[in-house]
Amino acid sequence: MSRPALSSKPVANPRRITILGSTGSVGRQTFDLIDRARDSFDVVALTANRNIDELVRQAKLLKPRLAVVGDDTQYAALKEALAGTGIQAAAGAQAVVEAAQMDSDWVMSAIVGAAGLPGTLAAARRGATIAFANKETLVCAGPLMMRLVAECGATLLPVDSEHNAIYQVFDFDHREGIARLILTASGGPFRTLSRAEMEKMTAEQAVKHPVWSMGAKISVDSASLMNKALEVIEAHFLFQMPREKIDVLVHPQSVIHSMVEYKDGSVLAQLGSPDMRTPIGYCLAWPERMETPVQRLDLAKIGQLTFESPDPVKFPALRFAQEAMIKGGTAPAVLSAANEVAVQAFLDKRIGFLDIERINETVLNAIPVSALTDLDVLAEADAAARTKAGELIV
Ligand code: NDP
Repeated sequence: MSRPALSSKPVANPRRITILGSTGSVGRQTFDLIDRARDSFDVVALTANRNIDELVRQAKLLKPRLAVVGDDTQYAALKEALAGTGIQAAAGAQAVVEAAQMDSDWVMSAIVGAAGLPGTLAAARRGATIAFANKETLVCAGPLMMRLVAECGATLLPVDSEHNAIYQVFDFDHREGIARLILTASGGPFRTLSRAEMEKMTAEQAVKHPVWSMGAKISVDSASLMNKALEVIEAHFLFQMPREKIDVLVHPQSVIHSMVEYKDGSVLAQLGSPDMRTPIGYCLAWPERMETPVQRLDLAKIGQLTFESPDPVKFPALRFAQEAMIKGGTAPAVLSAANEVAVQAFLDKRIGFLDIERINETVLNAIPVSALTDLDVLAEADAAARTKAGELIV
């Protein structure tokens, strides 16, 4: 990733934006910031999967041209709820892609999982500025996505707080001076538990993150450290850094959001209260800055910041990330797809917490790796991983 030419894209005022996944955790926080600065934004399209109550509430306030629900059984209800507002209703996976294709300056990619891929690719193809939270897109399709971004003149702005932090302190013009990236990790809700205790943890306990308030899937991923594993792969593709130069450091307070170490020994970090509205606001206003209601950082009150190395025995997910990167090709997509299936099964109470890692490792080793030549290869690997993971659950 090279530093985008700031002067080539003057910021439209108001900035025309689309939010894919507007009803989720990241989507709602994006909505919150836009709602506080409505004059600065012109909302083109909003999308959800099933939650039409929230979608309609947002649409009535932000008045987009189009509101889309992914689940097409909800179409009639959405159309009826928007009757008389002048807002067009649409439904289905293709309609989500069409929302991404509409002419807007900026697209928030905040759909969870591989379902976010088609919309993010569509936005990249038309050269949009993409604030991407949907890390699974880069994990699964990193090289394809980065090539598309370069070819189509799109701009990727990372929303994930760690990658957003690195983006803010990464010297794109002198990348040869960068020694390593240090991704911080809160350690999740099970950081201090034994494996025997982790085995008994329920979905309700897993989604109760000690610091961040997030959607269910990423919360479970935080508990298993799979979220950090996906983030290491995301950083590898996004910043084009060798995997050996990406380290993880557990930092339970989540005040330092990540760091870049330079070869002279300097370490640059971005700090802030653990509130996603800081990185989302950074992307919304980029390359400028905007006011956010985020609590200001009071280091004297916090008193102490602590750090520890991740425990590779208790949390093998980071090893899976390394193995997937070494295998290359479709392996990261296989790992991510297996994890999606396993996490959903855990949330549905069909498997235990530690079964997630068992399924991830088994599927990663079982599915043959292909070169990531195109999206068809990716779709095949994704389907094979989901089938294999499903077999391990029943
Ligand atoms: P949520 O589960 O809270 O929200 C997901 C959003 O995607 C919802 O709008 C949901 O609609 C929509 N959606 C789900 N499935 C589909 C589908 N098949 N088709 C179309 N839309 C769909 O997730 P988060 O906001 O927590 O996370 C979103 C992404 O951002 C993830 O990739 C996550 O890893 C990443 N991220 C999240 C952070 C956070 O703080 N939450 C931090 C950093 C990254 P509906 O509401 O109708 O179900």
